[in-house]
Amino acid sequence: MTLLRPRSAAEALKLYAQSPGALPLAGGTDFMVAWNAGLANDRVVLDLAGLEAWRRIAATKTTITIGALATHADIQRHTAVRRHLPLLVEACAMVGGLQIQNRGTLGGNIANASPAGDTFPPLAVYDAEVELASARGRRRVPFGSVFAGVKKTVLEPGELIAAIHVPVPRRPTRALWRKVGTRAAQAISKTMAAGLLWLARDGTIAELRFALGSMAPTVRRLASVEAHVKGRRPDRELAREAAALVARDVAPIDDIRSTAEYRLAVSQNLLASFLTRET
Ligand SMILES: Cc1cc2nc3c(=O)[nH]c(=O)nc-3n(C[C@H](O)[C@H](O)[C@H](O)COP(=O)(O)OP(=O)(O)OC[C@H]3O[C@@H](n4cnc5c(N)ncnc54)[C@H](O)[C@@H]3O)c2cc1C
Repeated sequence: MTLLRPRSAAEALKLYAQSPGALPLAGGTDFMVAWNAGLANDRVVLDLAGLEAWRRIAATKTTITIGALATHADIQRHTAVRRHLPLLVEACAMVGGLQIQNRGTLGGNIANASPAGDTFPPLAVYDAEVELASARGRRRVPFGSVFAGVKKTVLEPGELIAAIHVPVPRRPTRALWRKVGTRAAQAISKTMAAGLLWLARDGTIAELRFALGSMAPTVRRLASVEAHVKGRRPDRELAREAAALVARDVAPIDDIRSTAEYRLAVSQNLLASFLTRET
């Protein structure tokens, strides 16, 4: 194994352009599992640990920018993130145990592209954008478009995740984060939900954003549900209608962790109780 240890982003992008088959290494929590399985044998490894600037979290009045190398623990500690993006803070607090949260990064979580990435439903409802950098330049991709399938992203050769930009949301009337797994901690989810709801003065729904994880190859916003509930009162009848629409937006599968039937039923219940304020 050859280890490249750049000291700056510019150097990292240059080295990656010269060696596009290299494996980026951030916190290493997923990487070490792959290494153990022999997947890093004879590979060039691009260690990102020296890119201090990519670990920073910066907040303005309108945007919070989280460097790709910010760890799950860094995110939980940051005052502006705690105030404006509490669903992301809650999700980061459920990633593995403290050791994993201290090493695992947000960029690594996204690049790993597991259907069960805990940070994905919050980032989806917060309308995040992912900034990709290469020696050719930078581009931003809406969060929902960064995944191309299970463990696949739209990153091109030589591209790294540099940062995640999140618009500061106006304060929601209600917010939800729920991870449903076999255990309360250290679990890979069967389903996950994040929701933001804004009510108008007359009590009707001004806007709903609702995302599910672990239900499809990639995180899903429930577009049909979100459109259906707009302008309506969040009562039990609407909750029933919305729950019936979930299957239009996402078709869960059976796998070793759960069944499609369970996943769908739990997600419908989470949505219905969120709408009627029963969560
Ligand atoms: C015991 C255990 C428990 C876990 N529990 C959870 C959990 O509950 N929820 C959850 O979501 N995840 C969990 N994970 C997975 C993992 O910890 C997270 O996905 C973590 O955020 C990965 O970040 P990392 O910095 O360690 O990535 P690394 O392991 O360093 O990298 C992961 C992948 O991303 C690539 N990569 C990393 N950074 C970049 C970048 N900036 N640009 C481009 N590519 C990059 C690497 O090449 C690699 O393919 C768990 C892992 C373990 C070992």
